[in-house]
Amino acid sequence: MQYLFENIRANSTQIEFFKTKLPHVSQAMPEFFRSMAIAYKSIEQKNLYGMPQGIRQDLGVDTSLKLLLIACFNDHVIAANESAKSAIEKLRVLTLNWYAIKGEINAALFFSYYFYTMSSNALFITKDLLKQIEFLVDASQSASHAFEETLLIGHSKSWYRSSNGVGDKLNDVFIHDSDFTKTDLPKPGYQVHYKKSFQYDLRAPIFVDLTWVEAPVTSDGKVIMSCPSCGQKCRGPVFAQLEVRCPRCKQVWTQRT
Ligand SMILES: [Zn+2]
Repeated sequence: MQYLFENIRANSTQIEFFKTKLPHVSQAMPEFFRSMAIAYKSIEQKNLYGMPQGIRQDLGVDTSLKLLLIACFNDHVIAANESAKSAIEKLRVLTLNWYAIKGEINAALFFSYYFYTMSSNALFITKDLLKQIEFLVDASQSASHAFEETLLIGHSKSWYRSSNGVGDKLNDVFIHDSDFTKTDLPKPGYQVHYKKSFQYDLRAPIFVDLTWVEAPVTSDGKVIMSCPSCGQKCRGPVFAQLEVRCPRCKQVWTQRT
């Protein structure tokens, strides 16, 4: 099975960034990946009998996750008062990039299973781990945003609604209706779980914020949508796949209807 993120490779800037700016994370990552690759074998076996129902606690994933979270504090990736949801999103970025450096697909797939499909379980465990290590951390510590500028994030914040899912205008990331749950207040958006297709894409955020998503207006066989760069309203014919070029800033993007 081919996954859409499978061929992503890190460039030398990203590799160098891990070495120089994320020394603690670089030390914790090999063990995190090793334990996830082993855990992946256990869910693969469960798959023979249908959908895997849970995560075994004896595989070392939680322990290596705890060490990774401590490393994230030490490298100023997460702040002292960071929410578990936000910390998990940063773990996704780190995992995507480590995968792009090392290419260990089974570990990346277990991460996806754990944090997308089993997201409420993963959120509970991450909250608990953050609480456990709270006392190790300087309470005033803030997070550096340098890593978000250098590392692969995988998606933009310019999304569109189509008839059967949501997609990223600037990246080839698309999530079908059956692979997310729409959530309402307090945080409206789409909780991505891949429970139908299991076609994991580690580039996708675990939660798509509703404020990122534009529902295009269709009238007279034309669809009207905003340019992801300058906001200009653009019109195009209604096709299943559209490639749009903004007349104002020349930005090109694709979206489905
Ligand atoms: Zn534009």
